[in-house]
Amino acid sequence: MAKNLEQPTVNAVSDNYEKERKLGFLENLYLPEILKGMWYSFKQMFQPTFTMKYPEEKWDPPAIFRGRPVLVEDHGKERCVACGLCARACPPLAISMQAKETDDEKERFPDFFEINMLRCIYCGYCEEVCPEEAIVMSKDYDIVFESREDAVYDKERLLVPKEDVSERLEYLKKYRNRQFGSFWDFQEENNIHSVRDRDREWNTGLSLVDMIERQEKNDATPASSSWS
Ligand code: SF4
Ligand code: SF4
Repeated sequence: MAKNLEQPTVNAVSDNYEKERKLGFLENLYLPEILKGMWYSFKQMFQPTFTMKYPEEKWDPPAIFRGRPVLVEDHGKERCVACGLCARACPPLAISMQAKETDDEKERFPDFFEINMLRCIYCGYCEEVCPEEAIVMSKDYDIVFESREDAVYDKERLLVPKEDVSERLEYLKKYRNRQFGSFWDFQEENNIHSVRDRDREWNTGLSLVDMIERQEKNDATPASSSWS
């Protein structure tokens, strides 16, 4: 028998619509249901609010939050040693940079460093791969551009003092550096080029023999799959 296409026999929810619940008299009138909905909305007006009056009220995100990536300025200089790892790891190729040599102990610095914030997807890979904790995810989520050129952040706009991102740096120290257990401590100690650690005292009081012993112990420690 030919189907009557003017009279659909199924609906989008169920192809067995004949078993659907029949609406009652009041439900068919609609008005009581609308009043019920309005009463529910009215009651919510007296409940505690969970929203903020942005932009008058600003949210202060926790340290785990990944906002705009920034370059860390340490003692008035960028920590970045222009290794290029972040640019290599960045999935949307948002980072471009050029290295230059310097007589400073860190030997290299970025002559220019740019992040195209129209491309950035806030993945945090740049932070993850950076050996110097020179690029970190800040709490800045309030980003506005007036043009495409304006969205390209140069080194001057990216640099922030390390004190401003101290919470994130602490977070990284706690959760990132401890991934491999005590093994990391030894590596960090050996990192003589690290600007990150230049103001730290590395005299551990261990003799060379003790240090070799500790290294052997660390090498024998299996990598931990958890941060606990
Ligand atoms: S957060 Fe991700 S997308 Fe943004 S600059 Fe870093 S690596 Fe690239
Ligand atoms: S920010 Fe870090 S990963 Fe990127 S070039 Fe500088 S030192 Fe290397």
